[in-house]
Amino acid sequence: MAVAVGLVNALTAGEARGRPHPAPDGEEQASAATQALRSGGRHYPEVTAGEAAELTVVAAALRVVFESVARGDADEAARQVNELLEETDARPHLDRHDGEPWHLHFHGTGGTRAGDWAASCATALAVVLGGDLFDRLGVCTAPHCDRVYVDVSRNGTRRFCSTACQNRVKTAAFRARNT
Ligand SMILES: [Zn+2]
Repeated sequence: MAVAVGLVNALTAGEARGRPHPAPDGEEQASAATQALRSGGRHYPEVTAGEAAELTVVAAALRVVFESVARGDADEAARQVNELLEETDARPHLDRHDGEPWHLHFHGTGGTRAGDWAASCATALAVVLGGDLFDRLGVCTAPHCDRVYVDVSRNGTRRFCSTACQNRVKTAAFRARNT
C-alpha cells in the first residue's frame, strides 16, 4: 500500500502541500520512482528510465482509484481496480531468492519489474476495497494539495496527506480566528 501511495504522490502531476507538483521527467522521474518503491521499506535497485515511464502510467491509473473513493464512488474504484488486475494479470506467487525468506510476488504477464509493481499495487488496492476499510483511501483536503493517502488510523478520520498539510490548515484556521 505504501508503494501505491508513493507512486501516485511522486509521479502524478497536481499540487503538493501548497505548491505545484509537476510530473517529474528524465532523471528526476527515475529517482522519484525509485524512492517511491523504497517507501515500502525495502531496498530496491535504481529504476531505469524505461521502468520509470511505465510506472508513471501505472501511477495515473492508481490515482483514479483514490479519487473515486474520495468522492464516494466505490463502483468506479472497483471497476478501475478490476481493470488493473486484468491488465497486469496479477496473480499471487510465493518466491524465494537471494537468501530472502519466502515472500509474495504478483508476477503479471509482462515479466517486467514495472509490471510486477503494477500487479502488486492493484492487488493491495483490491484487498483494501474488498474489505471493511474500503473507504480509507483518500485525497488530501488541504488547499492546493491533491496528494493521496491511506487512512490507517483507528477511527478513520484522516483528511490530509501529511502532517505538513494538517498544520497548514490548522495555522490558517488559527489566523482566521485571530484577525
Ligand atoms: Zn496534502
